[in-house]
Amino acid sequence: MSITAQPPVLKPIVDEPQPQQARWGEAELTRLEAMVKQRSLFYWKGPQTEDLLGEFRRHYPLKQVFPCSSGTAALHIAIAALRLKPGEEVIVSPITDMGSVIGILYQQGVPVFADLDPRTYNLTPDNIRAAITPKTRAIMAIHLAGNACDMTAIMAIAKAHNLVVIEDCAQSWGSRHQGTLVGLMGDFGCYSFNDFKHVSCGDGGMVGTNRDDFGAGLSKWGDKCYDRVAGTRDPAELAPNYRMSEPLAAIGAAQLTKLDSIVSRRVHNGTRLAGLLADLPGVLPPVTRSGDTHSYWFFLFRLELDALKCTRDEFVEALRAQGANANGAYLPCPVYRYKVFQNHNFFGGTWPARLMGATTMDYTKVDCPVAEAILQDCVVLPLNEAMTDSYIDKVAQAVRHVANNHRK
Ligand SMILES: *Cc1c(COP(=O)(O)O)cnc(C)c1O
Repeated sequence: MSITAQPPVLKPIVDEPQPQQARWGEAELTRLEAMVKQRSLFYWKGPQTEDLLGEFRRHYPLKQVFPCSSGTAALHIAIAALRLKPGEEVIVSPITDMGSVIGILYQQGVPVFADLDPRTYNLTPDNIRAAITPKTRAIMAIHLAGNACDMTAIMAIAKAHNLVVIEDCAQSWGSRHQGTLVGLMGDFGCYSFNDFKHVSCGDGGMVGTNRDDFGAGLSKWGDKCYDRVAGTRDPAELAPNYRMSEPLAAIGAAQLTKLDSIVSRRVHNGTRLAGLLADLPGVLPPVTRSGDTHSYWFFLFRLELDALKCTRDEFVEALRAQGANANGAYLPCPVYRYKVFQNHNFFGGTWPARLMGATTMDYTKVDCPVAEAILQDCVVLPLNEAMTDSYIDKVAQAVRHVANNHRK
């Protein structure tokens, strides 16, 4: 008889399921019930849309705002409203959602990818300056994961070069730069209510501006260039229909009543996690500029692979084995490496702006080494407002355990 040694069954460090927030409840139901008694669900007639705008403005007091069908739509409306001409360039981040660049391309503009800061994952002022050409019209400040771009520097560059600044706040509801909410500093603030964002109505967006010269363009570019005030139809320009309807506005209005509490919990949780990983060799938590507020749509940290004897994917596997809900790269590659860019396949297999000589951009030649490196060695941890301190502490403990086990 022999006794076979069984490996001990170890309890994972994160020994509870990831807390999940309840996203919809009484506030949404109450509004939906009132809504089904309405005669119309068209935004122009709707009390829900008005309430959504009121709630939005309570947080973001922008002069002109337009609720629309997505964050992508919000950004497209901004690009159209600044009247980007074919071949004109917009400086963007290579780590972002396609929604950041879709509107630029539809207006026959040229997204110009500039490289990122290795610790904030946002555009750096130096890289923005280096990307400016005589064709540059705008800078898109994409506040990745909820970490604010250096808006002080970006606004100074824009002023010096007479550029328009569009803030892509899709991931950064409630984020602040030096105390001011993102979206209030640039010429346009653009937000998303898609299913994955801090607040959601399934799909939706909001675009706002304080600029009188751009303000009238918002509803025009989001609503077929119809004049709803005069009630006349004689569109002077080509514009899409990006309207948001009353059912979505109802949910959005209810969601925004919870924004402050959602954001404050996320700030707390993300700050706690970053603090717990701050002095861990081999691990580089995200850096928030002193005086800024990171609203942590997700938590992305980097590995110093030279200091570790594992790959990023092995690190993620080990974290998962410890019960942490970790993932590898946020994106498979920087946006300019997507097929659509590599093949310049924007309109029926061609790129009219280039065919007509409005640009010489060749995306196969673009290289942003910091963005590439971030996506090679980053680990993404989900973060939400339902997570407790003790859950966050266990996740941090799991990261410490895996890093300590894999250090060279
Ligand atoms: C989600 C997102 C968008 C697009 O928003 P949609 O509502 O999905 O169209 C744009 N930019 C960034 C940075 C995003 O995360």
